[in-house]
Amino acid sequence: MTTNEKIQCLIIGSGPAGYTAAIYASRANLSPVLYQGMEPGGQLTTTNEVENFPGFPEGITGPELMDKMQKQAERFGADIRFGRVTATDFSASPYRVTIDNEKVIEAQSIIIATGATAKYLGLPDEQKYAGSGVSACATCDGFFYRNRPVAVVGGGDTACEEALYLANIASKVYMIVRKPFLRASKIMQERVLQHPKIEVLFEHETLGLTGEKVVEGADLVKRRGQTDEEKVHIAIDGFFLAIGHKPNSEVFKPWIETDENGYIKTIPGTPRTNVEGVFAAGDVADPHYRQAVSAAGSGCQAAIEAERYLVDKK
Ligand code: NDP
Repeated sequence: MTTNEKIQCLIIGSGPAGYTAAIYASRANLSPVLYQGMEPGGQLTTTNEVENFPGFPEGITGPELMDKMQKQAERFGADIRFGRVTATDFSASPYRVTIDNEKVIEAQSIIIATGATAKYLGLPDEQKYAGSGVSACATCDGFFYRNRPVAVVGGGDTACEEALYLANIASKVYMIVRKPFLRASKIMQERVLQHPKIEVLFEHETLGLTGEKVVEGADLVKRRGQTDEEKVHIAIDGFFLAIGHKPNSEVFKPWIETDENGYIKTIPGTPRTNVEGVFAAGDVADPHYRQAVSAAGSGCQAAIEAERYLVDKK
């Protein structure tokens, strides 16, 4: 283990929550250090057009928005580093956080903004065809399916967004939806249902994928368990998951309370966790809103709370 580094404020994560916390913490002279994690910029870097972030009336791409946030944090002196938290010890202040299994940081205050990661169905075929037709990011991999048929699993806003994005590239997009309705917002539902290239397969579940070396099709079941249950096969080259996310809270769990789905519990209306001086912001603590703008808002709150905590401590 390398020598300990002692800092006032450690920010973990580089989505809108982490970068906003870094902007506020650096402007409050906390000299924050931010570790970006495995996916610098977070989930928004895998999004195409962001149309609902205030201040960008024409929309802005996810990567561009995150790049701007990073630059804004750097402008005020935030120390932004590449690295992943591999262990934590919050038994006493200053709290100890290990980076990449080698470096230990001792921090007076911590802002956890590690976000959430895409979920998979849990089918063995998802691993078998990983990188060979299975993806959880249409904007990253959609390009490979030009004029070819694909499927998107899920019926939420993410699934609709991915389906619409893919419909501009692929020859046909199936949406595999387990319920008889879409959960997405009305506007997204309308766009999907009216799109000539998108076919929504309601009440369908995926049993497995087929194909020699790469995905060539999917075996589905319609109305599983009902008297009219039916097996369905679709020919597809790409299989995209869009069924929600898992909060990245595992490494903090020995110390930080989470709910049954792993979302960090905060004192309602605040970013405070059960450990004094440790705050949580963004999707890792938000099962409800999960928006870039709400994540940014909670990152701001966390930095203000950290600043007040450090002042009170002195
Ligand atoms: P959601 O949790 O909203 O939707 C997940 C979808 O996947 C649901 O249709 C769900 O089905 C389905 N699903 C979950 N597990 C399985 C499974 N094992 N098998 C089959 N289907 C499954 O997640 P999203 O990622 O879509 O959205 C998360 C949040 O982010 C939401 O609040 C959403 O509004 C927001 N969002 C907003 C956007 C925007 O405003 N531009 C863009 C993207 C997301 P079921 O309904 O049956 O549970």
